[in-house]
Amino acid sequence: MTELCQNLSCLPGCHTPVPRELEAERLCVLHYILSVERACSGMRRETAIGASNTERQSEIGSYVKTTAEKLSHVAVVSPPLSDELKKRVLTTFLTLMNLRESLDRSTRRSAPKPVATRPSVAHALAASAGR
Ligand SMILES: [Zn+2]
Repeated sequence: MTELCQNLSCLPGCHTPVPRELEAERLCVLHYILSVERACSGMRRETAIGASNTERQSEIGSYVKTTAEKLSHVAVVSPPLSDELKKRVLTTFLTLMNLRESLDRSTRRSAPKPVATRPSVAHALAASAGR
C-alpha cells in the first residue's frame, strides 16, 4: 500500500516519484513540503496582521489540520525518506504548529466575545505550548 505512482510525475523538470499519499497534489515529498511552507508563510502573515475574517480563519484551521495529517502519512507511511527530507518534514510540522498558534491568537483578537466554537483542550494545548 505504499507503492509509488509511476504514472504520476511531479512538477516539470522534477523526476522524483510521487508517493501515493500525495497523488491528489501530484507532488513529490520535497515539492509538497515547499508548497506547504509557502502557503503557511502567506497564511501566517494574514493571521499576524489580522486580515482574515472568521471564514478565512476556519479555512486556515482546517488547512493546518489536513496538512498535518497528510504530512504525518507521508512521514511514516510513504517509502522511507532521506535524512534531509525527515528534517524538512519536522520543520514543516513546526511551521504548521506555529501557524496554528498564530491563528489562535488572531481568533482571540477578532472575537472578544466568548464564543464556544473550539474545545477547551485546544486552549489548554496552546497555553501549555508556552510563550
Ligand atoms: Zn518534485
